[in-house]
Amino acid sequence: MIIQQNISLKPFNTFQVEARAAFFTDVRQQSDIAEVLEFVHDNPLPALILGSGSNFLFTSDYPGIVIHINTKGIECLGEENDKVYLKAEAGTYWEDLLDYALQEGFYGLENLTLIPGTVGSAPVQNIGAYGIELKDVFHSLEAIDLKSGLSRIFTLDECEFGYRQSIFKSSQKGCYMITSVTFALSKYYNPCLDYKDLKEFFEGRLIDTITPHTLRDAIRQIRLKKLPEVGKIGSAGSFFKNPVISENFFQKLLSEFPHVNGFKVDNGIKISAAWLISQCGWKGCRQGDAGVWPQQPLVLVNYGNASGKEILQLANKIIQSVEDRFAIHLEPEVNII
Ligand SMILES: Cc1cc2nc3c(=O)[nH]c(=O)nc-3n(C[C@H](O)[C@H](O)[C@H](O)COP(=O)(O)OP(=O)(O)OC[C@H]3O[C@@H](n4cnc5c(N)ncnc54)[C@H](O)[C@@H]3O)c2cc1C
Repeated sequence: MIIQQNISLKPFNTFQVEARAAFFTDVRQQSDIAEVLEFVHDNPLPALILGSGSNFLFTSDYPGIVIHINTKGIECLGEENDKVYLKAEAGTYWEDLLDYALQEGFYGLENLTLIPGTVGSAPVQNIGAYGIELKDVFHSLEAIDLKSGLSRIFTLDECEFGYRQSIFKSSQKGCYMITSVTFALSKYYNPCLDYKDLKEFFEGRLIDTITPHTLRDAIRQIRLKKLPEVGKIGSAGSFFKNPVISENFFQKLLSEFPHVNGFKVDNGIKISAAWLISQCGWKGCRQGDAGVWPQQPLVLVNYGNASGKEILQLANKIIQSVEDRFAIHLEPEVNII
């Protein structure tokens, strides 16, 4: 394992902003993990785990060591009734896992097509799209405690998954390196087509004609229309979470703004952050090279040479204007460094 110094993180974040890591290392095999933990132990530096950098905004250089997880591999652990258990190494690309699962006839991941990133980071914010979240197909994960170096298994309950949330993004943030994730997939295809965009896409179509390949292809088309293409325009996908407000507050909001969208979730009413942002006039706005994506105002973009600080300034202006107009605080979904 090689530890490099003063490395540019621009190729390692999908916002494509410049920031430098004081130290940087690439973890490719299990033995690298022990070595990097030893380095962190001997040099008391902050450590940052990096997958493919699609959920980060770097606003300054990183003074510690960036540990880039690059371990690959997918293994079928076995079957039980209608379930099949797939284990993937943390650095495996998410899309490679989906390709593998579909090729083998294992189902449940289709709606999570084209989410950039690696398997190891997927549980961190309980990735979700088109009516499915990671927790719906999750069995367990293995992670190493960065302080003690000890490995442990986290079950579904122990991960405390919520909307774009888990224990790894809350109380245990930065404490564990996830080394592998095990998924409980189905041997039978049972498509989830409840999401509005999918309903519209397949309107009038017989369900029997919607194969897993058709479904993934539909999601690809929908996503490519709405979201900037990774590698072409800098972004980290949705910059903000959809806020959840109380039923009472929602009713009050409705009386003032009859077009506000909201749907019931466990802890209240989730409302569309994209709608709030659009209402404040931000859709398609550009400040220098930092902008709000015209097709999806939840997404902030780097049109070329924006710095992380400039993108953060734009995000803060949006937060302030939504707060002033609606008394709702938008929370970033992206990890800001
Ligand atoms: C165009 C675009 C579209 C997107 N669409 C979606 C979407 O539909 N749904 C969605 O949920 N997200 C979406 N995202 C966000 C992003 O793709 C996911 O959050 C993804 O899981 C991040 O993966 P990554 O490997 O790039 O993680 P990174 O950005 O590298 O890291 C994200 C977080 O996970 C931590 N982390 C990474 N790997 C590990 C590990 N092995 N162990 C412990 N911690 C780790 C990091 O420290 C950081 O806190 C989108 C992003 C983009 C750019």
